[in-house]
Amino acid sequence: MPQPKTVRDYIRTIVDFPHEGILFRDVTTLFADPRGFRIAIDQMLHPYAGQPIDRVAGLEARGFILGGAIAHQLSVGFVPIRKKGKLPGAVISEEYHLEYGEAVVEIHHDAIEAGERVLLVDDLLATGGTAAAGIRLIERLGGEISGCAFIVDLPDLGGHARLDAMGMEVHTLCA
Ligand code: IMP
Repeated sequence: MPQPKTVRDYIRTIVDFPHEGILFRDVTTLFADPRGFRIAIDQMLHPYAGQPIDRVAGLEARGFILGGAIAHQLSVGFVPIRKKGKLPGAVISEEYHLEYGEAVVEIHHDAIEAGERVLLVDDLLATGGTAAAGIRLIERLGGEISGCAFIVDLPDLGGHARLDAMGMEVHTLCA
């Protein structure tokens, strides 16, 4: 009997996107499949069963899709962490390094209350620069990170070790 597909089986790899030499993990094929999307959300939630979580924060853009579904499942609110200039209200910002240059992510200054336990989510962990900037934003607002959940881990790029070194509880579904 054939084995049921795993989360990894629903993700495709696009060669040379967005630049030559990059193997881009495309999770849109996972999101588009009703079973794939459900097992991904269920597996991302599994480590946090029974844990008190007050809010889910998602990193733009695929973290919004995952974070919305996870927040709904937990019956908690969702907070977007967006690229510079996208949020309409007053924000706080954090800069981080990209391969070429810098990027900035922002959160509404009143999106999280001090002491709230926040689950941070995104589709993929590479160098960890984006997630680390998101963690700094949440912590500057007084939030406590309950965990960081991703679908794909690219451990060779160092992100997992970087978040571990920050004392984060990191959960990923596949490499
Ligand atoms: P990092 O900051 O280097 O960890 O890169 C992670 C961020 O870049 C996440 O927000 C991802 O959505 C995005 N990213 C980087 N590489 C990929 C990929 O291969 N597929 C999907 N997203 C990616």
